Amino acid sequence: MFATVTSDCMKCGACETICPQVFRINSYEIAEAYINPVPQAAEESTKEAAKNCPVAAIILE
Ligand code: SF4
Repeated sequence: MFATVTSDCMKCGACETICPQVFRINSYEIAEAYINPVPQAAEESTKEAAKNCPVAAIILE
């Protein structure tokens, strides 16, 4: 599974809180998925982060 954050991100930080193994707020202060493909052990929390993103900015493929 691959995770991408779109420019719709409003930098709320929820994804980083839910799944810090995959998401972080980067030095430009937008969220990014910094590990792809998503490690199998983090797939569930990655899906949880995507579900809880308030602007649906996390795309999973
Ligand atoms: S949860 Fe969504 S809006 Fe919030 S930081 Fe992550 S990608 Fe951005």
